Amino acid sequence: MEIDKEGPKGVTEKGREVASARCVEYKEAIQEYLDAKKNIPCGLDLTERNEQQKKKILAVLDGSEEEWNDWKWQVRNMIRDVETLARIFPLSAEEQKQIEEVGKDVRWGVSPYYASLIDPDDPNCPIRMQSIPSIQEALDPSVVTEPETILYNSPAPCITRLYPDRLIINVTNACSMFCRHCLRRRDIGHQNIRYAKDSINEALAYIRENTEIRDVLLTGGDALMVADDYLDWILSELDAIEHVEIKRLGTRTPVVLPMRITDEFCEMLEKHGAIYLNTQFNHSKEITEPAAAAVKKLTKAGVLVGNQTVLLKGINADKHIMKKLMQDALRIRVKPYYIFHCKKLEGIRHFRAHIEDGLEIMEYLRGYTSGLAIPTYIITAPGGRGKTPVNPNYILNTNVDGQVLFRTWGGHVMKYDNER
Ligand code: SF4
Repeated sequence: MEIDKEGPKGVTEKGREVASARCVEYKEAIQEYLDAKKNIPCGLDLTERNEQQKKKILAVLDGSEEEWNDWKWQVRNMIRDVETLARIFPLSAEEQKQIEEVGKDVRWGVSPYYASLIDPDDPNCPIRMQSIPSIQEALDPSVVTEPETILYNSPAPCITRLYPDRLIINVTNACSMFCRHCLRRRDIGHQNIRYAKDSINEALAYIRENTEIRDVLLTGGDALMVADDYLDWILSELDAIEHVEIKRLGTRTPVVLPMRITDEFCEMLEKHGAIYLNTQFNHSKEITEPAAAAVKKLTKAGVLVGNQTVLLKGINADKHIMKKLMQDALRIRVKPYYIFHCKKLEGIRHFRAHIEDGLEIMEYLRGYTSGLAIPTYIITAPGGRGKTPVNPNYILNTNVDGQVLFRTWGGHVMKYDNER
């Protein structure tokens, strides 16, 4: 191959001038974000602080470094009582009382690992807000539940079916953390349950009979809260069904329990063809070295990892914070997939942003950052009617002299030839 020192031809001096002027515009367009970004912490930069908290938590729980890296130890030692919590970071007597009060109604629990990410000096730390009960949950007057999703969309045990070609098998109600914003907070109950083989066999039989099903999502709860051999069995059964083309796993473990992603688990997944794993990073502080290592193992095993963020007031309902999250996720090989609008359900009103906030975020992503960093913003339709994308409108008029009038991400209004 020959070497050309000048690069591609065809750009005139005038062309370079125009390009330089455009670059000035681009630099201006991004400056606000670059300033804001300095104040948005990423877990990759907090390793030392998190390590200190880890040591403190290990001392409180009387655990070793080896135990810390064992996901089963993490689950056994999930922090569920106020006394332990108060030994990890400061809690006033009033806060302790409130946590106990809320906990009587809806379960709470946080893995020692996730607790180590909490900034002890920040009562509004996004990690704390997602994991520790707040009195706002009890003060929420909206008594809204949504039984239709379960009532009308389960044609067989353990199955939820909302779409033509795919469905969910719920394998457990257990989670590696009880997220305070969880839509299933009422379904979690007070005990962990793994659904029995008989029920899963009925679900598998349903899939065998319905040949249009090509995509099966294992979730819960959190699909990775069951043992490797149980998942291995379900995945093997699905492998044997010819019309099932892909399998998906729904889990928050890469975020809240990254040690769950063991070498043995990844070796098991590697046997099972195309597997897509979707997780839920909601803030850049969750993008840590352990989370990055977990995702790297998964990708080495051929598993593609996506992110389903929930739009949460006080956590990420901000155009800069969300953009940083999307970019930080890509840094550790996680592809932004969805931003879910937070539903109106009992106890989570304080997390709900407006749809306008979500639209502003989408407006501020498109063009301002690479398409890879842009997920689909979703409203989940009431009554279990499925995910509906919502987007800023770029089309201004579809018939201006046979042309479409639209605006660009940067605000330029243009015509586009729409001749048939
Ligand atoms: S991991 Fe998912 S299902 Fe479990 S509590 Fe969190 S949001 Fe809910």
